[in-house]
Order: sequence, then structure tokens, then C-alpha cells
Amino acid sequence: MQSDKLHEECGVFGIYAPAGENVTKDIYYGLIALQHRGQESAGMSTSDTAGPKGNIKTKKGMGLVSEVFERKDFTELAGNIGVGHVRYSTTGGSTPENAQPIAMNYIKGSLAVVHNGNIVNAGEIKKEQMYRGQAHYTSSDSEVLTYEIVSERVKTKSIEEAIENTADRIHGGYAVIVMSPRKLVGIRDPFGIKPMILGKREDTYILASESVAIEAAGGKIVRDVKPGEIITITPDGIKSNEDLCNRKHAHCIFEYIYFARLDSVIDGIEVHEARERAGRALARNSNVQADIVVGVPDSGLAAATGYAKESGIPFALAFHKNSYIGRSFIKPTDEERREAVHMKLSVIENVVRGKRVIIIDDSIVRGTTMKQIIEMLKKAGAKEVHVKISSPPFLYPCYYGTDVPSSSQLIASEHSVDFICNNIGADSLQYLQIEDFKTMVGDLPICKACFDNHYPV
Ligand code: 5GP
Ligand code: MG
Repeated sequence: MQSDKLHEECGVFGIYAPAGENVTKDIYYGLIALQHRGQESAGMSTSDTAGPKGNIKTKKGMGLVSEVFERKDFTELAGNIGVGHVRYSTTGGSTPENAQPIAMNYIKGSLAVVHNGNIVNAGEIKKEQMYRGQAHYTSSDSEVLTYEIVSERVKTKSIEEAIENTADRIHGGYAVIVMSPRKLVGIRDPFGIKPMILGKREDTYILASESVAIEAAGGKIVRDVKPGEIITITPDGIKSNEDLCNRKHAHCIFEYIYFARLDSVIDGIEVHEARERAGRALARNSNVQADIVVGVPDSGLAAATGYAKESGIPFALAFHKNSYIGRSFIKPTDEERREAVHMKLSVIENVVRGKRVIIIDDSIVRGTTMKQIIEMLKKAGAKEVHVKISSPPFLYPCYYGTDVPSSSQLIASEHSVDFICNNIGADSLQYLQIEDFKTMVGDLPICKACFDNHYPV
């Protein structure tokens, strides 16, 4: 994987309790629910709106949410407004400096920012900021964004005004939550590439990357934040700026394919249902005979149950997954990635011995995972292994924040389906067709540039 680009595929959370309750535990629970969006670092910033102005407390560190925070943080960070972040790990750029929230003091006060996504013109903005003496050569997209908001804030009356003035200048896919010591502001990119949803618990408002985080904090879903919307939460309730709302929408299809949690609902579509529908579409387009349908844990399971329902071939649990080790995808070398697959998954021999197996995963990126798994299945006595992938061939890099290696490492961008089938040792290989996205998400306007090279503009 290339380390020259920072991939920001993270989880964000924000909460404001005007009645004054301590929200640190809510942030903690919210981040735990978003842990699948990033395991590299975690952090939270809080403030007490009744306390001395400008006093934002921050704690962040490398590791899982449960590793970064201790019980005493709930009292030490106590406050009734706050933001939290989990950061996605990549093989490059994995340093403590990249942990969020980014908290900054400036002449009029202080703020803290959490950010999920990629800002495609961050490089240009950074140049201007370096000229102004703000950013450094190494500043991340998120820092560039924060500097930009701060520069505006010095000229404006309110934080939301500063963000409104910034919004039109930043291009990309992002979900950002900004807290000042007294206000919480959420902003979602005009395409709606990255998800963000609004929730409520009595008078308390919550913003989060996914619905599951709102539920984890005891809240109820109010609605998705609109693409381009800027939502400001104050003691008087919520206020919304929709100046950038009526542009072209392009929601990231990869959230439904892989990234989001199975029990989340994003832009009105249940992730689990979307994945099952992808599995059903694969079954409709297949004439492979088999004895069982299995899914690669966890990312292939829902598509596998969909496939089984549609085809009538029984679903089976073929693997034990060790939940105590991290992701194999992000290991730096091929050798380590291969080893990680073996550490994570083992085959339940009895289930697959002598069987013709249909196996489903959400995607093939480099091909490492599937190749290892097929080897394991065959070693366990599977007679045939037919691979079904619940997304089309992954061909192009993502500029909006999905962690994709360079094209040369995307096996499908260099090789034909037949070659891949052969290379991974499968008896057959079938991908989802691009047209089947319609089955998955209906008329939702989507960004599927990683499959068809049409980037939203
Ligand atoms: P491969 O082994 O072919 O390189 O990667 C495919 C596996 O990686 C699949 O099991 C899929 O669930 C997972 N995957 C696909 N995209 C991503 C991603 O952006 N991040 C992580 N961590 N895993 C991914
Ligand atoms: Mg997977």
C-alpha cells in the first residue's frame, strides 16, 4: 500500500446535553460502537458549557477505544458537550500526531474538530496556509480544515458562520463535527459521500457517523444529516444551513458493501438488507450447483445468507473467527497479510468435507484473503470452491477516503476475472454486476468510482 497519501476513513461522534449531564460515557459508548471504522487511535474532547469559557479538555491516544480510555477519564474529562473520534489505520501515516480530535486555541477562544474523509483540495489550501504561517508541510487534511475554520472564526461572529464560509472552499467527501466550548456543529459534504446522522435523547442531541452509535448512547434516530447541511446545536435546539444542500448527491456505495456496521441504517437504507440483496442478485445470476453457501466472516456473511435464501442452497458456518486479533487487510507485507488470515480464520472441517462450497466475500482487493481461504477450504476436504463477490471488480483508487492501495496492487485492475479465478485457486469466480447496485440501494444516488472510474464532480 502507498504511504504517500493519508487515508481518513474514520468514525466521528458529537453530543451536547444542555441540561448539563456529563457526556463522557456517551462518547465512549458511541466510539465503541464505531470501532469498526477505525482501530488505530481514539480520542475525545469535552467542555462544560457552564464552566470557564475556552476550556476544552482532550485525551487521545493510539489503540482501541477501550485501550485509550480509563474509568477515571469519565470524571477527569467531565463535560456536557463533546466530540469523539476513531481513526482508521493504514500501513502508512500511523502516528500519534494523526490522532483526533484536533483541539486548537486561537485569539477568540478554542475549538475541537473531528473529521472523517478526504479533502481533495487540501494540498492547495495548505499552500496558502503555509504562506500565512499556519500549516506545516506535514499538516494532515484534518489540520488544514481546522486552520481554515480558525482563520474564518477570527473574522466572523460565530463558529457556524466560520464553518459556513469554509464549507464552499473545501471539496471532497467528509463528515466533520466541530465543538466550540458552547456549541456543536456538524457538517456533511455536499455529495453525501460520508455518512452522518442526527439523534436525540430527551434534550440532548447527538451526531454520529452511523446510527448504531446513537443507539449505543441511548438516543433515538432523528434523521440523516442532509448532504451539504450544516447543523448547529445550541441550548435553543438545532439550526440548519442548507445553502449547499441541493447539489449532486453521490453516497459512497462502499459503506453498504463493506465499511458500515451490519446493523446500521444509512440514508434510509439498512446495511444488512443491502448486503443480503447483493447476495440475492449474485444467486440470480449464477447457475453453479453446490451443497452449501458460506460467508467469509464478518464481511461476507450477510451476502451469503441472501444468496442462500435466493438459491435455496443451505447456508452453513464454515469458519471460526478469532475476534481478538486485528485486521489482516492493513498489514504492511504480503507475508504478514497471509499469516494474519490464518491467525484470524480457521475452517470447521466437518462442515466443508466432501462438499461443493459457494463462498462469498464482500470484495477482493489484492486477492490475499481469498487465496488463503480457498487453500484452507481445500485442505479441509472441500470438493469444489466457487467464489462469489458481493461487489464488482475493484478497479480504481478512491480519492474520497476509502483505503485502497494503488491501482497496481488492485488485482482486478491488472488482471482478468479468469486470471484471478486461477490465481486464487477457485473453481469459478463471479462478481456482482454494477447494475446490481440498483438492487442493493434502489434509487439512492451513489459514488461508485472505485468500480467505474466516474468520480462525482
Ligand atoms: P484482499 O485480501 O483481497 O487484499 O482484501 C479483501 C478483504 O479485505 C475482504 O475480506 C474485505 O472484507 C476486506 N476489505 C475490503 N476493503 C477494505 C478496507 O477498506 N479496509 C479493510 N480493513 N478491509 C477491507
Ligand atoms: Mg473481510
